[in-house]
Amino acid sequence: MKITSYTTWIVPPRWCFLKIETDAGIDGWGEPVVEGRAHTVQTAVDEMMDCLVGRDPARIEDIWQELYRGSFYRGGPILMSAMAGIDQALWDIKGKKFNAPIHELMGGACRDRIRVYQWIGGDRPVAVGEAARQAKNGGATAVKMNGTEEMQCIDTSRKIDELVARVAAIRESCGPYFDIGVDFHGRIHKPMARIVARELEPFNLMFIEEPVLSEHLDEMAAVRAHCNIPIAAGERLFSRFDFKEVFASGAVDIIQPDLSHAGGITECRKIATMARLRCGAGAALSPGADCPGSLPAGRRGKPQCLYPGTELGIHYNQGSDLLDYLVDPEVFIYRDGFVEIPAGPGWA
Ligand SMILES: [Mg+2]
Repeated sequence: MKITSYTTWIVPPRWCFLKIETDAGIDGWGEPVVEGRAHTVQTAVDEMMDCLVGRDPARIEDIWQELYRGSFYRGGPILMSAMAGIDQALWDIKGKKFNAPIHELMGGACRDRIRVYQWIGGDRPVAVGEAARQAKNGGATAVKMNGTEEMQCIDTSRKIDELVARVAAIRESCGPYFDIGVDFHGRIHKPMARIVARELEPFNLMFIEEPVLSEHLDEMAAVRAHCNIPIAAGERLFSRFDFKEVFASGAVDIIQPDLSHAGGITECRKIATMARLRCGAGAALSPGADCPGSLPAGRRGKPQCLYPGTELGIHYNQGSDLLDYLVDPEVFIYRDGFVEIPAGPGWA
């Protein structure tokens, strides 16, 4: 089999999709994208695909190594996201060729369904509480919310009180056994992060995410030392080499490589294997979901997997949400907070 052509599409509001075609009539799909930089990644895909037309799509590892090691500059969000989309498409082709789901080609499924958490919006406590209640009514058993707007290095306690009120509103509307993750997007600094963590401890959170930026692993470790809430990070890290630093730091409990940003299935599986070595010493895997649809991300599992996230209904996509594009939105319906592991060929 040979790769004969490829096509990319920019799709509103912020997505890029790739189709790779072959002379066997089999095609494969991937999502090469960085939010807000879809055209940049699309161009990187063009530059990479130049040398792949005519190649055997089955040689996924060989192609991955060539794309990564064959040029002077490596890593980072643009190049690794372009590689991720290509890698996903090649796995899709392989799955379709053997008429098997991709997990079947990687050793087989480890579970029949996987728990997911759902993103919720809302700026005020009443809105957040209502959004969580709606998610719960829709079948979710866990949600993730924005922590706060940007904070100064030393900021007013009013912002902390407002955050606490929003989390409390979820507890009030959904009860004590409904899981909550709070994502700070690295918007706060160590002095405030320690206070925030202390104030949030009574709510028994599932995790706090990026309390500080993931490039400040020493500060992340200091926050972790001061709090009894699991810390999640890694959606802005792009390779084994980035995660090696995370594991060495001991700063993170839950890693979140994004399957559309961290080199695709091929690289994320290796990152997951690295996390496996840390299991028990503190590293669970929760595949990231900030890639547009997170179709593969939300539907992959690993033995040490916590939950993947889903951003269905996220405010960034208002007017063009993922489900608006699907012929059959049923594939993303949660039942008791779980989605089924796909059983069709490739990503289907
Ligand atoms: Mg995040």
